[in-house]
Amino acid sequence: MRIYADNAATTKMSRVAIDAMIPYMEEHYGNPSSLYTIGQEAKEAIESARADVAAVIGAEPREIIFTSGGSEADNQAILTAAELGRNAGKMHIVSSAFEHHAVLHTLKKLEKQGFEVTLVDVHEDGLVRPEEVAAAIRPETCLVTIMFANNEIGTIQPIREIGAICKEKKVLFHTDAVQAVGHLPINVTGDNIDMLSASAHKFHGPKGTGFLYARRGILLKNLIEGGAQERGKRAGTENVPGIMGLAAALKDAAAHREENCARMTAIRDRLIEGISEIPHAALNGDAKKRLPGNVNFCFEGIEGESLLLLLDDKGIAASSGSACTSGSLDPSHVLLAIGRVHDVAHGSLRLSIGEDMTEEEADYVIAAVKDVVTYLRSFSPVWRDLMAGKRPFIL
Ligand SMILES: *Cc1c(COP(=O)(O)O)cnc(C)c1O
Repeated sequence: MRIYADNAATTKMSRVAIDAMIPYMEEHYGNPSSLYTIGQEAKEAIESARADVAAVIGAEPREIIFTSGGSEADNQAILTAAELGRNAGKMHIVSSAFEHHAVLHTLKKLEKQGFEVTLVDVHEDGLVRPEEVAAAIRPETCLVTIMFANNEIGTIQPIREIGAICKEKKVLFHTDAVQAVGHLPINVTGDNIDMLSASAHKFHGPKGTGFLYARRGILLKNLIEGGAQERGKRAGTENVPGIMGLAAALKDAAAHREENCARMTAIRDRLIEGISEIPHAALNGDAKKRLPGNVNFCFEGIEGESLLLLLDDKGIAASSGSACTSGSLDPSHVLLAIGRVHDVAHGSLRLSIGEDMTEEEADYVIAAVKDVVTYLRSFSPVWRDLMAGKRPFIL
């Protein structure tokens, strides 16, 4: 059996997304800035894609800027708020410890430029507390940036409540919604969101395309100088096929969101129940306030890397920590942020399931994880010490 359970890292493109792209490579290949017909056809296509994207999140088309993906959108949103803040003498930002590196590394850069950053706690359940965000906001705060759903442990943050606090305190609120868009209901107005980042390859669209929503009136800082594309906020000839694929994938995801969510939640809970039978294993993050496709466990006495390799031998593609950090020996900053100690954080497994995973496949995964964990523990010195009572079990 071959099972792809790493949809938080990237997804397979949907057929509708591929079909939406091909005409913009073969026939309508004109430059949208050109005035002749095939240029203008491409321009019109982009504008209709923009309207489709805006409709899915309750925005206006002119509030959507197409980018090269989630990382660029995060950078642009945060650097925009920082520039507005600096101009107003407000150089404090509130975020959380388990953000994606596209956010955390941008904040690090701003700290070197004199900004102060407060990271609110994400607690053991992987959830930010709105009242702690409120308490962290100061008169000089120019931005609150909290992710919609975490990419490793899948926990869904109280975005609407955080947004309401920011609105009341008149602080810009950005959310990295890369894991949420296409998977969870989002309405930027109802959810009090000023800026939102999304990426097509996390909802069955093409890699290298994404968008930034910025509420009307927010003067975006452009990261790339050049032509006047995207109303001067994102220079460079538009990735027309990518944008068409993004919009088609998002429309499709939104149209089937509820049924997909119900099906995946049942499979997710089946996996959680089965894997929980392994002794000294613990689910990471709240069991219910999590993405319908996310399962993340820590196992005592094993190494995540070996677990992944052995699961791969059984045809299962999964992940330990985020794709960006795998290959490095540091444990996941997300697991450390929810209070997992180094040793335990090393033995983690993320299964991010697709819409089409069946019960039979889930049962195969459960059996495989049980086998592999047992096998790895059978020659783990750490496990031997735990069993001999030479060190205490943590989980
Ligand atoms: C994947 C991801 C990103 C980065 O998106 P890219 O399109 O790959 O740049 C940012 N934030 C989160 C939460 C992600 O999961």
